Amino acid sequence: MSSEAKMTGRVKGVVHIVGAGPGAPDLLTLRAAKILAQADIVFYDALVHPDTVALATRAEKIAVGKRCGKHSTAQKFINKRLVDASARYPIVVRLKGGDPMLFGRAQEEIAALEAAGVRYQVIPGVTAALAASAELGTSLTQRGVARSVAFATPRVGEGEAPSDWAKGIAGADSGAIYMGAGESRAIADALIAAGKAPTLPVAVVENASLPSARVFYTTLGALPALASITLAGPAIIFVGPQYRARASAIATQRGDVAADVRARAAEA
Ligand code: SAH
Repeated sequence: MSSEAKMTGRVKGVVHIVGAGPGAPDLLTLRAAKILAQADIVFYDALVHPDTVALATRAEKIAVGKRCGKHSTAQKFINKRLVDASARYPIVVRLKGGDPMLFGRAQEEIAALEAAGVRYQVIPGVTAALAASAELGTSLTQRGVARSVAFATPRVGEGEAPSDWAKGIAGADSGAIYMGAGESRAIADALIAAGKAPTLPVAVVENASLPSARVFYTTLGALPALASITLAGPAIIFVGPQYRARASAIATQRGDVAADVRARAAEA
């Protein structure tokens, strides 16, 4: 402890805003794993895998989970707790799902830390859209087909005006929609109104990177039917021309595998 800390009883901790990745605990950066092992206190989100939180062996672990529709700790309160913790602990970790800088409200935490003069660093993580692309085996960008990608969410905070999110996707070749699985009809309507064709291919990936991952293929016009499928986990909705080709490729591959299995069974 510094002599100032001894005199005042306050430490000048650093807050590490850390991306936990999309779900699978081994999709964590080495830098994140290192700081978790050293952490004195960890504030973690609901979507972070328990095994990732467990890497913080010596830390006090505090859930400040945010999950749609479920109880969540108000953002302002989280900001305050981070600032307060930095006066008591040298290494404070704020562990967030995916990457902190994408739909993670990191800026509000950073603003609070800066206002209080608290030092911080951000450690990136694998964002859900990239893990979901890996799951699909479909690149978000493709030469000649998709040269631009928009990341968007239809979700707006309480009291905020409706957003123009659909315009961003309409202006790009492909789109990754976060926090939208419960609003499939509104999403389809908004994108079609913004100029996308009802025949535009759609891929939905639930629980990307986890053993429970599921993939659905559809079109924009048929997307509202997603409402009839019970999604247990978080999901990304992709739109773009490349998903049509991929859907048939995967169907063929599965067909081949099934034929293979039948042939082997017949031989035996
Ligand atoms: N900062 C996070 C996103 C937080 S918003 C990131 O970079 O990934 C939460 C949304 O992310 C969910 O509603 C869902 O759209 C998406 N998401 C998070 N984990 C996911 C997963 N494993 N599979 C699919 N979508 C996921």
